[in-house]
Amino acid sequence: MLELAEMVDVEVVEAMDNIDEELSDIQALIIASIIDNSKDKEVEVVNADGTTSKETRSVLTSKANVDKEIRKLEKELSGSFSESTLNSIKAVLAITTSYLISELNFKNKYKLNAKKFFGDNVVIGDRTLSQRTSIAVSNLFVDVEKIYRKGIIAGQDVGSIAKEIEDAFSKNIYQFNNIIRSELFMAYRIQFGESVDKNGIKWIRFHESFPRHPNRKRHKCYELANKNKYGKGKGIYKPTDSIIYFPHPQCTGWLEILE
Ligand SMILES: [Zn+2]
Repeated sequence: MLELAEMVDVEVVEAMDNIDEELSDIQALIIASIIDNSKDKEVEVVNADGTTSKETRSVLTSKANVDKEIRKLEKELSGSFSESTLNSIKAVLAITTSYLISELNFKNKYKLNAKKFFGDNVVIGDRTLSQRTSIAVSNLFVDVEKIYRKGIIAGQDVGSIAKEIEDAFSKNIYQFNNIIRSELFMAYRIQFGESVDKNGIKWIRFHESFPRHPNRKRHKCYELANKNKYGKGKGIYKPTDSIIYFPHPQCTGWLEILE
């Protein structure tokens, strides 16, 4: 049943590629807006030896226009990231149920409602999916705003502002990837547990995904996969043991039915 988890991972990679592409489009739009709102200006620069000289730089002049454009892009990204993550969750729920129906002949075809269960509901921690996706977007835009505001004050050349914005995107992308991996693997495990329970299966085995990972013993999934809770063997749980569905963020632990 590792192959099901691998199918989920394919969805994860695809969702990460999509957000990567969307983020590079947004990055390009932000940089274009900064360039459009700049003018060549002669500035006095202090040289290394303490002398000053004149230099022509292209500096950002219409901050209001850039602010407006950036607020619009932030709102768009917030909406689209939340929606695309929910669509990927839907795909994962469908992959999981159809695998169980076709490979294991499950009679009960119950599938969770992605929007109700994962979108609007606090499944883990204290936030909904759209709150988590909005926080990632907001963290990125806070960094972007800091960069061009500082650029205006310092009379920085737009070329170097653009470079810093690219760095901010590279630095923040992990937050988007983390959300995708966490949410999609959690959706898979929860649907697996629901289906198993509704089809009368009593025992499932939880496996850690990276048995050769150097820090694995620090992960909750290592503990779960090695614990013999019911004296039936390592990693064996009841479908009602909710701890196995979300051991820790970004967990790619997988589940198996005990024949
Ligand atoms: Zn894990």
